[in-house]
Amino acid sequence: MTSARTRERLVSRLREKGIEDVRVLDLIRSTPRHLFIEEALAHQAYDDTALPIGHGQTISQPWVVARMTELLIAPGVPRRVLEVGTGSGYQTAILAALCEEVYSVERIRPLQDQARKRLMSLGMARVQLRHADGGMGWAAEAPFDGILAACGRPDIPQELLAQLADGGRLVMPVGELDQQWLTVVDREGDTFRTTRLDAVRFVPFQRGILK
Ligand code: SAH
Repeated sequence: MTSARTRERLVSRLREKGIEDVRVLDLIRSTPRHLFIEEALAHQAYDDTALPIGHGQTISQPWVVARMTELLIAPGVPRRVLEVGTGSGYQTAILAALCEEVYSVERIRPLQDQARKRLMSLGMARVQLRHADGGMGWAAEAPFDGILAACGRPDIPQELLAQLADGGRLVMPVGELDQQWLTVVDREGDTFRTTRLDAVRFVPFQRGILK
């Protein structure tokens, strides 16, 4: 169920659904998604669906991870990236394989602890994880060439826009709970160019942290 054939089927499915970037498809193939979920769900690890990870959260659907990664790296792979919503750590692992420096914040402590263990065991100890409200970004490490948020809300937090480097790109679902769009913001100096793309459904971007 975690075989090369199962993974290859997922890659074909993503290609059919419009993912074209070979770097992204290769990473979907090589990243062990089954290690980012409970063992009881491992048989579904390479299905193109979101799955529960506890605390009311989900590991994102592979198509969503692939699409967001493809959008983030389209102008050039960002050197330093901020991720909001570490969750299982699956998207974090994909970013870590592409970018030099990855900073990821998560507001639910037990999810972060688990993600840390997984990333360490995969030899990705370089990734910087922080238990914090991602709505505030990570000011001490800003600016970021890329920002990716895996949770949605109707507006893009000002702090995130402020922490985006000149020439940087932010990718985030924007909208109400039942109707969100993947949104790309490109910063050129003080100009922020916003593009609304695919309709998506993410867990909410919440405020504050949970112990
Ligand atoms: N890419 C992750 C997605 C997890 S779901 C994965 O595939 O596993 C989104 C995550 O965002 C959840 O873990 C949720 O707790 C977190 N989240 C929501 N609002 C947040 C906030 N303000 N700051 C940090 N993390 C947040």
